[in-house]
Amino acid sequence: MKKGIVIRLYPTEEQAILMNKSFGCVRFIYNTLLQYAKENKIYHRFELQKQITLLRSDNPFLNEVDKFALQNACKNLSDGFHHYFHKTARFPVFKSKKNSKKSYQTNKTNNNISFNEGMIKLPKLGFVKCSNNFRYPDNKIIHVTIYQNRDGKFYASIVFEAKVNPLPKTGKEIGIDLGTRKLITTNEGETFHLPDNAFKLNNKCRREQRKLSRRNHDSKRYEKQRTRLSRTYQRRNNIVNDALHKYSYSLVKENDVIYMEDLDIRQLLEIQDNKKKKNKMIVSSLGKLVRLLTYKAEMYEKQIHKVDKYYPSSQICSCCQKRNNVGEKEIYHCQYCGLVIDRDINASINILHQGRMVQKEP
Ligand SMILES: [Zn+2]
Repeated sequence: MKKGIVIRLYPTEEQAILMNKSFGCVRFIYNTLLQYAKENKIYHRFELQKQITLLRSDNPFLNEVDKFALQNACKNLSDGFHHYFHKTARFPVFKSKKNSKKSYQTNKTNNNISFNEGMIKLPKLGFVKCSNNFRYPDNKIIHVTIYQNRDGKFYASIVFEAKVNPLPKTGKEIGIDLGTRKLITTNEGETFHLPDNAFKLNNKCRREQRKLSRRNHDSKRYEKQRTRLSRTYQRRNNIVNDALHKYSYSLVKENDVIYMEDLDIRQLLEIQDNKKKKNKMIVSSLGKLVRLLTYKAEMYEKQIHKVDKYYPSSQICSCCQKRNNVGEKEIYHCQYCGLVIDRDINASINILHQGRMVQKEP
């Protein structure tokens, strides 16, 4: 199974210069080949790749940087053409120095990428100091993307082939209700919320965004504000992602089967768009959570079962199975059997029961 991890890089001044040169060369190759492709109507990867050799002899500075970076720039471009001809993307556009992402990708061959005591060895750069949290055998690395964020920090995104051991079976099954008030409620009454800090930073993002819209586009202050905004977004996303990873892992670890609603996130987003902007973060978090649960369950050999989204889990009484109209109330009160229960716990119990029932049917 392919996995990815991002680590922070702390390059020396010379290494940082070389990285920036590489970003520039990648942009140069991409733009030059795009121009060539347009003029000659040649879009095939291997035809374009031949041009790199010519370009290298005409432009010696290209030889200073990692050759995989140049090849991958060519691959990205030909992938772009592929997507365009298959109608899944627009025609590739030139990368500008100001607005394109500063990054390049290198591939692993032989021993060109490895880890050693808080350092990562990268082609042409040698050993670069890094946040040392890569604990996988390095012979399985496939490729590494080196990039610089708007705030100037360098990162390496490492994609590798990982062998994952399944988590031990616990014999437990759980029903979960997903919502915008509480992110997750389980049938056992456990709830998971997004951290308060995420909401604080989300509000900060909105303030920074408003500030940005008042700035003049060509000014230094605009660039500065844009950096500040992207840094705040990044901090918010880190906190949210961290929480979602933890929640999904603990649910998958403790249970063999998870029953949940088949939420249509896109639909939810549309509804929320018209209501409160604040909830946009929660709804997109729900989408991410569903993806994480699905892939973690597969990775650790557990099961996820989705209950039809038209099943009225929040209206049925989990005790007597009769249907009550609850509206938007947070407490569910059954007028038939007198059950009083938290609305979301009631829903998650129903999801568990319904999921099990559907599973039993042939
Ligand atoms: Zn009842």
